Amino acid sequence: MTGVIFDLKRFAVHDGGGLRSTLFLKGCPLRCPWCQNPEGMELRPALWYSPGECLGCGTCRAVCPEKALTLDERIHINQEACTLCGVCEEACPGAALKQMGREITAEEAAELLLRDQVFFGEQGGVTLSGGEVLLQWEFAAQVLKLCREAGANTAIETCLLAPRRALEVMLLVTDHFMIDIKILDSSRHEELLGAGNQQILENYRWLVEQGADVLVRTPLIPGYTDTEENIRGIARFIRNVDPKARYELLNFNPLCRSKYAALEQEYPVEGRALSQKELERYYRILEEEGIQYIVKE
Ligand code: SF4
Ligand code: SF4
Repeated sequence: MTGVIFDLKRFAVHDGGGLRSTLFLKGCPLRCPWCQNPEGMELRPALWYSPGECLGCGTCRAVCPEKALTLDERIHINQEACTLCGVCEEACPGAALKQMGREITAEEAAELLLRDQVFFGEQGGVTLSGGEVLLQWEFAAQVLKLCREAGANTAIETCLLAPRRALEVMLLVTDHFMIDIKILDSSRHEELLGAGNQQILENYRWLVEQGADVLVRTPLIPGYTDTEENIRGIARFIRNVDPKARYELLNFNPLCRSKYAALEQEYPVEGRALSQKELERYYRILEEEGIQYIVKE
């Protein structure tokens, strides 16, 4: 069994309890305009270019056997023509080119994740993130099964847009589910993210019914998810499904803007991270809606 991954984060402290190793799986069925990891959206591996590292020497263009690169004030990649042969990456003196994404076996993935197991302690473990983990759920389940067998605690970060069968299998090998509910109104969800949220909400309800350990999270994205109506609505919904729901609001992090520059795309989100005082206003809304377990960053 193989899957496509694009990053590994060691000693992570924000991807579940304790110290963790987090593996990022490629591919996502949603198209959130604010995505922090746009390099993980497509399942297919691709050549990634960092303009900030580029010396403008043109070596890559000269060595490419497919003529997939052009140079003006920066390098442009014809991803359709690129065969990911690696020649330009090898030749680049600025380390500005890198293959994003590679296929590995579940055994290799588990080995990567368990490399730091000695540091995990009681609370830590392994986390699968993305992209969207459940897009490659058979691979993900196999990786977590191997990690579980090695004695590691397991977690996934997911948007829950997946068939029920995927969740049934993941439930057998996952200790913690960190799930995103971003927008409650399904039409707006579809308009902005490319798919409605009915399956997501039904899957959440099902997971709670199964007694799974679930943390619901909403990223506070200026102009997209941060309205009082949306946050209040999500809080009310999850409290009705699970009176003991745990809910975390994730502050906006604008650091990914440079990734969009690399993709020659505009980052559409204006704004900044919220101050503690501004966050407190949202926490009050959650309290008013009866959320008893508010997880704060
Ligand atoms: S990876 Fe190979 S085919 Fe793709 S741009 Fe670089 S040299 Fe050309
Ligand atoms: S070889 Fe590297 S540094 Fe030179 S133009 Fe290409 S990407 Fe930029």
